[in-house]
Amino acid sequence: MLFSKKDRPAMPEMDAFTLSQQGGGSDESNARIAQLEAKVERLTALTESLWTILIAKSNLTDKHLMARLEKIMELRESRSAPRNSCTKCQQKNPMNKAACLYCGAPLPKPTETQESPFNF
Ligand SMILES: [Zn+2]
Repeated sequence: MLFSKKDRPAMPEMDAFTLSQQGGGSDESNARIAQLEAKVERLTALTESLWTILIAKSNLTDKHLMARLEKIMELRESRSAPRNSCTKCQQKNPMNKAACLYCGAPLPKPTETQESPFNF
């Protein structure tokens, strides 16, 4: 089962829920956390619904969808922290630098970030 409890990533020891239970924040921030938790729960349920519909109505399997998920996670990672690799020393530099921070070599012009409706 794809969304079984054992497959879920381990929760950090001090997650938002734990903090809100321990009175670690203001009433306002605790209310905001509860609101966000409810939203995440609903989005997770929505995703699970769509996932199961896709499996039921297409030739795709959990394996296909997991592979795509991995790919998307990598893509999102690269979009959130774009880096420009130095051609001389191979160090990764921030996109807004014209010269390498490590060796001073001129950096190649950054390639356009891939446009996506999910870049937000
Ligand atoms: Zn360099």
